[in-house]
Amino acid sequence: MLFTNNLGYPRIGAQRELKKASEAFWSGKISRKELLEAGLKIRSANWKIQKEAGIDMIPSNDFSFYDQVLDTTLMVGAIPARYHELAANKSAAYELDLYFAMARGFQHDGIDVTAMEMTKWFDTNYHYLVPEFTKRQQFSLFSEKIVNEYYEAKQLGIETKPVLIGPISYLLLGKEKEAGFNRLDLIEALVPVYEEVIGKLKEYGVKWIQFDEPFLALDLDDRARGLYNQVYKRLVKSAGDTKLLVATYFEGLNDNLSAALSLPINALHIDLVRAPEQLDAILEDIPDGLILSLGLVDGRNIWKNDYERSLTYIDKAVQKIGKERVWIAPSCSLLHVPCDLDYEDNEQTLSVHIKDWLAFAKQKLGEIKDLALLGDKRDEGTEVYGRYLENQASQARRRTSELIHHQEVKARVDAIVDKDTNRHSTFKERKAKQLEALKLPLFPTTTIGSFPQTKEVRSWRAKFKKGELTAASYEDLIREETKEAIKWQEQVGLDVLVHGEFERNDMVEYFGEQLQGYAFTKNGWVQSYGSRCVKPPVLFGDVSRPKDMTVYWTSYAQSLTNLPVKGMLTGPVTILQWSFVRDDQPRQQTAFQIALAIRDEVLALEKAGIKIIQIDEPAIREGLPLRKAAQRDYLNWAVKAFKLAAAGVEDDTQIHTHMCYSEFNDIISDIAAMDADVITIETSRSQMELLDAFADFNYPNDIGPGVYDIHSPRIPSKEEMVSLMEKASAVINPKQLWVNPDCGLKTRAWPETKAALEAMVEAAKTLRLVAEAV
Ligand code: GLN
Ligand code: ZN
Repeated sequence: MLFTNNLGYPRIGAQRELKKASEAFWSGKISRKELLEAGLKIRSANWKIQKEAGIDMIPSNDFSFYDQVLDTTLMVGAIPARYHELAANKSAAYELDLYFAMARGFQHDGIDVTAMEMTKWFDTNYHYLVPEFTKRQQFSLFSEKIVNEYYEAKQLGIETKPVLIGPISYLLLGKEKEAGFNRLDLIEALVPVYEEVIGKLKEYGVKWIQFDEPFLALDLDDRARGLYNQVYKRLVKSAGDTKLLVATYFEGLNDNLSAALSLPINALHIDLVRAPEQLDAILEDIPDGLILSLGLVDGRNIWKNDYERSLTYIDKAVQKIGKERVWIAPSCSLLHVPCDLDYEDNEQTLSVHIKDWLAFAKQKLGEIKDLALLGDKRDEGTEVYGRYLENQASQARRRTSELIHHQEVKARVDAIVDKDTNRHSTFKERKAKQLEALKLPLFPTTTIGSFPQTKEVRSWRAKFKKGELTAASYEDLIREETKEAIKWQEQVGLDVLVHGEFERNDMVEYFGEQLQGYAFTKNGWVQSYGSRCVKPPVLFGDVSRPKDMTVYWTSYAQSLTNLPVKGMLTGPVTILQWSFVRDDQPRQQTAFQIALAIRDEVLALEKAGIKIIQIDEPAIREGLPLRKAAQRDYLNWAVKAFKLAAAGVEDDTQIHTHMCYSEFNDIISDIAAMDADVITIETSRSQMELLDAFADFNYPNDIGPGVYDIHSPRIPSKEEMVSLMEKASAVINPKQLWVNPDCGLKTRAWPETKAALEAMVEAAKTLRLVAEAV
């Protein structure tokens, strides 16, 4: 028999129970105890599902109330100084309050602290809270969540494998908050805490511990690579009879192969979905006794596993090292896929034909088990053999489906020429014409697109979808909301308005719903950050745009005001990145198909008289391949796709783009190559640090560095925004600068939104006065 090993299970609950409970707790509607109970319920349900699916190695501590990196930060007690007062404050003496303050900021009882910085988890759309390190950083065991969860499962009769982020990856995920040291210097201080944790787990009789070390599959320098052996030697020593598994994912081991294989651990997990080619090299050199966990079931996408293909890898491994040393696993934690396909019963949006091609987390557990059984023996007539034949039939149905392939779409992509991807004139020439046409002040103010999606707005859409509200009354309500937003923006004195995106559920799904080639799930939620979940649409076939998508709402908003209203579109790379995308053609092919559809929409907006059009590309950076060697090719086609979408317009039409959570240093020349007239970026949580890349590069076009963090309910003061913009003005010509928040405001409530934007407009006024005085 082959062992089955799961790396992590979605923790939001099949009905987003965690989201509901956390938000109710934050708004004071439920007690701490009720929140804790909701957590326990999700964990026990998850453990039970995995047990019933026949998973041998069931993870614990994969649950989190907000983020597993923040959990680790609490475990090792790396609590930044600004929270110390809070940690000591009696009313907030509980770990959970401190925890949420670190995640979300805290403004209460005379305490006002910002949240920790958030950034994307590798190339996923999951966000983690960035550990902050100082030169003399101390670590000590603070939270024993990992021990508690193991014990909790054990009490339920389930033996689990505690999962935690390994110490080297943990340090690499963080940031130095002062100069003069490298965060890896802290390893000596950190390892003892890990040893202590291992010691505790050992006392409880833990059999296996999983250390996630995703960095071991990325580009490392010699020092980091060298550390792995030293550190794991120590951890293995303190583990005694408890066995250690090191999990790598999202990429292949490549140049770190011998470092990985030399670790004195008991099992190594590798991602064979992203990097199937690594298997041969690993089998070539694998030391005696090391167990290999084969990540064969895609933890990042929702397509059914191709059993025949997976079995070729399994057979190869079994032949070389024997059944006892081969485990079957998902490629990475199942955190990034929705919970359960069985909930999908809306044939209007997800037909049975397409559903036949899919597997969500729960179904993937079944695949893992099937593969383990089939890897053991393939006897005709057994139940699992029947499932194997059915799997092959399903793969064949997908390959030949007429739902997928459309010749006209493929032909249009083939016909793309260079001039389709370049604006008619240079930025300088365009800017002159745009100044003329738009007459904007210095430091123009704008927002990123969405305004609060209040409960009411969401309830209208829900009622409309359920048929409890007619299309006409739904649209009336949305028109009212849009009108209010336009009026309010005029009143407060913003310069470039937005329509507010009230008609949109989600910036990708909204477009997907109107494009050909997309299907939708009812309940296919995945965690994005904290309680925020997204429901990526399923891009299964060739993409085209049957009719206008945004022209009506943008024109309606524009008809209410003389100020410019920005058209608001999602860019091709982001649509691609935030969809579950087909794996049967190269990603760039799909990106170009989407780009052509967006290009048509841009031109339709321009034709309707819209002078400013924003094409959001918040996901362009996260799509960057994790290994350097593959990045150039991606950037080339990603920039080309954006330009293909944007470049059809006249010179005096102003193209904006927006990006968030981006480290721009390494891709700044490509961002410049996108040639958007204005780019708005997230910068406030990093105190404008992210702007340095633009300054160093001498970024030629206009920039709006976000002046306040919209992911926290905290209201920024005018003064702090002025001072952030002054920081920006010191490195970038003020004539290039716009004033705007970090991101869209859909997750915020109106009172804080209004207060923050009023202060922001005041900040811009102050900046103009100062600039004039100079
Ligand atoms: N226009 C979008 C909004 O404001 C952009 C969101 C994003 O960057 N994620 O909601
Ligand atoms: Zn954003």
